[in-house]
Amino acid sequence: MKTASATTLVWLQRELRLSHLPALQQALSDSQRVLLVYFHDPQQQVGSANSTWLAHSLAKLQQQVSEKGGSLWVIQGELSDTLSRLIEHYAVQAVYYSHQVGEPFASSQEVALQVCQKAQVELRPFFSEYWFDPGVILNKQDSPYVVFTPFYKALMARIDLLSPFEESLGDLSKTAVQPLERSWLDLPENLKTQIEQAWSKKVMSHWQVGEAAAWHRLDAFVDESLSSYDEQRDFPAVHATSALSPHLHFGEISSRAIYFELLARMESSELDAQAVYPWIRQLAWREFARLLLWFFPETESQPFQAKFAKMPWHSENETTQAWSQGKTGIPIIDAGMRELWETGTMHNRVRMLVASFLTKNLNQHWLVGKRWFDDTLVDADPANNVMGWQWVAGCGVDAAPYYRLFNPLTQSLKFDAEGTYLRRWLPELSLLSNKAIHAPWQHIEECRLIGIQLGKTYPEPLVDLAQSRQSHLERVAFIKNA
Ligand SMILES: Cc1cc2nc3c(=O)[nH]c(=O)nc-3n(C[C@H](O)[C@H](O)[C@H](O)COP(=O)(O)OP(=O)(O)OC[C@H]3O[C@@H](n4cnc5c(N)ncnc54)[C@H](O)[C@@H]3O)c2cc1C
Repeated sequence: MKTASATTLVWLQRELRLSHLPALQQALSDSQRVLLVYFHDPQQQVGSANSTWLAHSLAKLQQQVSEKGGSLWVIQGELSDTLSRLIEHYAVQAVYYSHQVGEPFASSQEVALQVCQKAQVELRPFFSEYWFDPGVILNKQDSPYVVFTPFYKALMARIDLLSPFEESLGDLSKTAVQPLERSWLDLPENLKTQIEQAWSKKVMSHWQVGEAAAWHRLDAFVDESLSSYDEQRDFPAVHATSALSPHLHFGEISSRAIYFELLARMESSELDAQAVYPWIRQLAWREFARLLLWFFPETESQPFQAKFAKMPWHSENETTQAWSQGKTGIPIIDAGMRELWETGTMHNRVRMLVASFLTKNLNQHWLVGKRWFDDTLVDADPANNVMGWQWVAGCGVDAAPYYRLFNPLTQSLKFDAEGTYLRRWLPELSLLSNKAIHAPWQHIEECRLIGIQLGKTYPEPLVDLAQSRQSHLERVAFIKNA
């Protein structure tokens, strides 16, 4: 029988919450003393929007922990040094953590493993970021699914086996350990500076951070939008989706806890299953992305379909910058990129369109776009982002039998017929008619009448959509036949 550990270190990476957190629950019940620690290694940079959210979220969590009589240390320094130092000084016997996929987490977990092996300390992962541990949902050949629909069916066939995490934690006094340095009870200087930057402040003015805010968001979404989610989710002008992705990315709320919350509300007939399952399906995409990166970690930088490694992409040029600044001359693309810059997020439908435009009309490598998203999205997530970019670029899993190539004009007309989203983000075009606003270059006379000068007050289109589409298809034919 396992004896209680005198001291366990709970290593927080990205699951910044207190409830439904098995690593912490287990440590509190196993151990006499618990060190609750976030290691901030500046060598392992994440993007700007992510670090801003992280800083706010850590500050919130430190406050939440101290209100429950404990302490959360945020320790700056190289992970192997700081972890070894704590293990030695506090005679730590075990390190518990929630496993995370993708970089920089995979490297950190490797470092932690080496440190713990050397110190002969148990390192125990908990898979609380997932619904099911990796390796549970496999196909008949015992291999991971690489097409979503059969994966989803297999997931749903097993969902009754899922068990909830324990919900609440009362007393955290076991974590109230004397820190070696007082500064650990505060945020490190570079995270404080990050919060203070003008762009960070602008982006964060659109968000509430932390565990309580995440649950509040979920409640508001369920009460106000869930019933119309399936119908409305593709229209970027409507606030029809949950906006929970940054909370989920930082683990301020557990996707498993969300599932059980929805289940309880369905069982009490408060929610109708028909309305709920289309949204659960989106959460399953997140699960799918996580498992793909677990099984195929190389896809973080390599296309899942090897043939695409030979794709003749253009090198980065001025069109890349125009794309990132929302100055391509194609309104739906520019609106999306400006929404991203202003708010740190972008509607899913528009993410698909801007990614398609960059890779298929501008012929830029999907990694170029992924990097910009990594830096500017508050929900930038190693698994979801790489899956999204590869899916749109056509080089990922779940390849469509036909080759997907979005036409931004048709999509703009279909999903923002009245131009509400375009007007929100492109005020310089707001006086154009509902027809002209999607393609001002096709309505020169109307532009002239209301004082829009293409090339001056709003850009000319960077590329001809039909020609660039044709040229991309030729490149794809070239690699497929190579
Ligand atoms: C090119 C591209 C890049 C993307 N990069 C990211 C990213 O870095 N981080 C990220 O969280 N999502 C990413 N997505 C997926 C999706 O756009 C966002 O999850 C969604 O827009 C977030 O809004 P929401 O929380 O309101 O989602 P909802 O529609 O309310 O969905 C609920 C949750 O399900 C998950 N989800 C929904 N759609 C997807 C999807 N297609 N793939 C994986 N999970 C999904 C998210 O966690 C989301 O919060 C990307 C999509 C594309 C096309």
